[in-house]
Amino acid sequence: MNAKNLLARWLRLFLLVSLLLAAWPVQPQSSNDAVQKIIAAALGPGPLAENLRQLTDEIGGRMSGTPAMRRAAEWAVTAFRQAGVDTARTEPFTLPTSWSEGATRLEVIAPVAFPVQAVSLAWSPPTPAGGLEADLVDVGMGTEAEFARARPARGSILLVHSQVIRTWADLFDEYNRAPAILDQAVASGAAAVLWMSSREQGLLYRHIHNFLGQIDRLPQALVAREDAQRMARLLAAGRRVRVRLDLPNRVGGPVEERNVVAEIRGRERPEEIVLLGAHLDSWDLGTGALDNGCNAALVIDAARAIVAAGARPRRTLRFVLWSGEEQGLIGSWQYVQQHRAELDQIVAYVNFDEGIGRVVGYSLGGRADIEPALREILQPIESWGANAHTADAFLGTDNFDFLLEGIPTLVATQEEHNYITNYHASSDTLDKIDIRELKLHTALAAVTVYGIAEREQRIGPRLTRGEVEALLRRTGLDQQMQRFGFWLLWERGERGRQP
Ligand SMILES: [Zn+2]
Repeated sequence: MNAKNLLARWLRLFLLVSLLLAAWPVQPQSSNDAVQKIIAAALGPGPLAENLRQLTDEIGGRMSGTPAMRRAAEWAVTAFRQAGVDTARTEPFTLPTSWSEGATRLEVIAPVAFPVQAVSLAWSPPTPAGGLEADLVDVGMGTEAEFARARPARGSILLVHSQVIRTWADLFDEYNRAPAILDQAVASGAAAVLWMSSREQGLLYRHIHNFLGQIDRLPQALVAREDAQRMARLLAAGRRVRVRLDLPNRVGGPVEERNVVAEIRGRERPEEIVLLGAHLDSWDLGTGALDNGCNAALVIDAARAIVAAGARPRRTLRFVLWSGEEQGLIGSWQYVQQHRAELDQIVAYVNFDEGIGRVVGYSLGGRADIEPALREILQPIESWGANAHTADAFLGTDNFDFLLEGIPTLVATQEEHNYITNYHASSDTLDKIDIRELKLHTALAAVTVYGIAEREQRIGPRLTRGEVEALLRRTGLDQQMQRFGFWLLWERGERGRQP
C-alpha cells in the first residue's frame, strides 16, 4: 500500500466519522430521552381535566382577597403535592386594597322606565348612599371632539359607546382608549360613567381601568350592549333621559393574599432557577376557565409530567401560580420584590395566559437574543408548529415585572379562538376548554422549561437597567407603561431593576 492510498483511506475514514458526528443529536441522548418521556407523560392519562373541573366548577370564580381564592390556593398546594414535586407552599403578600361588588342597580326612570342590565367596573368607588339620579349624556366613543360637542353638565352620568371586539388588537384598544376618556370625564365633573359592553347579546364582563391596585377615580358600570344602545337611541331622538345608578361597592383596607410556589430541585445547579407561571386568580362573574384556570392547571400538570418522566434537570424548576394578577399583576410584582436577592439566579420566566387557542410560539419580551437557544430547545417538537416567536413586548400579564428586572421572559402566543368574547365574562366557564389542546400546551410548556433548565448555557443574560430601558423604548412598552401609570414607578425605581 503506497502513501497516497493510505492517505485516501484515512480521508475516507475521517469523512465517515465526521458524517456520523454530524448526524448525532445536538443534545445528549439522555436529554432527548427525557423530552420524549415528558411528552408521553403530558399527553397520556393524568389528572389535568379533573384538576381543572375542581378548580372551575367546585371552587369557581376566585377574585383575589376572597375566601374562594384562599380555597384555590390551598387546592393548588395539594394538587402540586399529588404531582410529586419536591416542595409546594404558599407565599403571602399584601394586596393594598380590597374591593367587591355590592347589589348593583341601574334603571332608566324617564322618559320611559326600564331596568338596565349592568355590573360595576372592578375597583369602581361606590356611589353615594342611596345612589345617584342624573341626566344621561351620550359622549359617543369619548373623543375630545365628542366631549366638546356633548358638553356634559356637572353631575351628569356619561354613556360611552364601544365597538364589538373580536381580535387581540381590539381588546388592547378597548383598554388603551379608556384612560383619556376617564381624564375628560373627571374634568367635566361627571358623577359616573356607563360603558357600553363590547360584547353582544347581553353579555356582561368585569372590566377594569385602574391597574395599580387602587380605587378608581369615578363610579363606573358596564352596561349590556342592547340596553346601552336603547338609551343612546332615546337621547338621539331628543329625549331627556334620567337614570338612577346604585353601586354600593365594598371597599376595604389591605388584605393578605398568597402565591403558590412548587419546586423540582436541580441536580447540578439548584441555585439557578427557571420559572413557569400562570395566574390562579380570576374575576368573579364566570369561573375563570379560559382566564386563567386552564393554564393554572397546565402549570401543575407540566410539573407532574416532568416528575413522572424522572427528568430532574440541571437547574431548579419553580412552578408559580399567581394571585392578584387581575388587580394589576400584583402577586408577581410582590414576588419579584420578595425574591430580589436571587433575581440574578433566575434564568428565565415562562408564562401562559391566553386561554386555550393554539400556541403558535412565544413572545420573547423584546429579547431576540434568546431565540436561537429556544429553537434548539424546541427542536424535538419542531413539527408542532409552535416556533413563530416574536421579539415584541407588551403590558398585560405576569412576565412584566421579570422583564423590568432584565430577566428573559417568554409568554405563550395563542390564537384568539374563543378568548375575546368570553374574556372576564359570565360565560368564561369550563365548557370552553378543549382538553386535548390543553394537553399539547402542557407538553410544550414542560419541554420548554425542562430544556431551559437542562441547557448547559443560560438562554440569555440578565440585562442591566440601562439595557432594560433601551428595550422598553425599542418595543414601545414605555408608552404602554405611561398610559397606565407604570412609567413613573419605573422612573422612581419603585418597580423594575434598581439603578
Ligand atoms: Zn389572565
